[in-house]
Amino acid sequence: MDAENAAPEGAADVPAGRVYGQNPDHVRPDWQEYFLRIMDTVATRANCDRGRAAAIIVRDKRIVATGYVGAPAGLPTCDEVGHLIKVAYDERGGQHKHCVRTTHAEMNAIAQAARHGTPIDGATIYIKMTPCLDCTKLLINAGIRRVVCRKRYHADHDSVRILREAGVELVVLSEEAESYAEME
Ligand SMILES: [Zn+2]
Ligand SMILES: [Zn+2]
Repeated sequence: MDAENAAPEGAADVPAGRVYGQNPDHVRPDWQEYFLRIMDTVATRANCDRGRAAAIIVRDKRIVATGYVGAPAGLPTCDEVGHLIKVAYDERGGQHKHCVRTTHAEMNAIAQAARHGTPIDGATIYIKMTPCLDCTKLLINAGIRRVVCRKRYHADHDSVRILREAGVELVVLSEEAESYAEME
């Protein structure tokens, strides 16, 4: 066999008839979709069924921290011992039940970065829905500059406003609003 027709290095691993890079069934996700799919996988680790959400913090196309809705490490979870429900009242007298056992995914991702000394200044966060007001304030102060959400949270008015005021880019992929189980 002359050099021109020699099998390229590694060619022995290629099954006969398979042309790499030309599989019509494979759709390669773009970066945004890639991180959102990983977020969905992280969300399966959440341990409160009132909202199994997750957050992925990304810098320079690298995942630097992840978080999911969960009880503080080492403490009993909602899935194990039930929710810890508190009732809150809004300005119109409406009553809302919240599970307060868990920490939100965004906060847990920031806590993970802090624990490992990972800078997240200038990072993007990928989350399921627009953040609550507390998480929004924390994201701004942690240096997050871009927030990508699959959908709207039903009560995100103040969060959207202060993200805009702080100059944080907000990308919401669907205007469909998610009403958390907290609404009941
Ligand atoms: Zn719960
Ligand atoms: Zn939150």
